[in-house]
Amino acid sequence: MLLNMKDLLKTAYENQFAVGSYNVANSEFVRVVIEAAEEKNAPAIIQIHPNEIELLGDEFTAYVREICQRTSIPVAIHLDHGASVQDVMRAIRNGFTSVMIDASHASFEDNIAVTKEVVKLAHAVNVSVEAELGTIGSNDNSSEGGADQILYTDPQDAKIFVEETGVDTLAVAIGTSHGQYKHAGKPELKLDLLEEIHQQVDIPLVLHGGSDNKDEEISQTYLHGVSKINLSTDMKNAFFQEMRSFLIENQDAYEPDVIMPSARNAAKEVVKKKMDLFNSTNHAHLYFK
Ligand SMILES: [Zn+2]
Repeated sequence: MLLNMKDLLKTAYENQFAVGSYNVANSEFVRVVIEAAEEKNAPAIIQIHPNEIELLGDEFTAYVREICQRTSIPVAIHLDHGASVQDVMRAIRNGFTSVMIDASHASFEDNIAVTKEVVKLAHAVNVSVEAELGTIGSNDNSSEGGADQILYTDPQDAKIFVEETGVDTLAVAIGTSHGQYKHAGKPELKLDLLEEIHQQVDIPLVLHGGSDNKDEEISQTYLHGVSKINLSTDMKNAFFQEMRSFLIENQDAYEPDVIMPSARNAAKEVVKKKMDLFNSTNHAHLYFK
């Protein structure tokens, strides 16, 4: 069942759980997410980053839409880190039900202006919009980028930003970074700051860089307004670690239907654990009331 993200997150927000938003970079990952969601009876978001769209091509979205329409689980298809109005319009044309416009590196005024424009365009065709205020950090090897120094989201700015733009969800910087914390060490999430933002802003908040954090911190976030947690690194890592060892042990393997299943299962186990951690497991029924 294909929804936009506003409708998908409303239920999560009201019931204090988070929906995982999983970056897919090929059909294996799409199946990982959909199968995990069906097995866990958990809503899910399939998100595609512009780098991943470059890899996949525009036509790939048609496949994702087909699979999302066939499943009984509520899902949304979301553009991750759209950088411009062009990125957003391309995604809408291709059938995404939700888009992110990330102008977090621009000035506060310019971020408001471009987000406002995107909200007007997207809402005209029932597509929901996520924006970002403050900047999420960046770790090694993540193609998603981010800033060297995290700029924490200011709660008062968040209030003004949401009122001015009419955005549906807001990505906030409370200490996470994209990628793995190999060298930096795991961060302490600023849960006090998150609660302050939540007090000021009555829309679902989004946590980027959901991989490799402390579980006990992640499980606090959806009690303080976070309804979407982005997950890419932990899932991709499990997939390719398993594939790497399989190929080392099976040097002559070349058939995809021999090589892929164990990698897919390894990624699926991670996604299923995240669905438990985000408290989205067994919540799909809430959408059918
Ligand atoms: Zn991100």
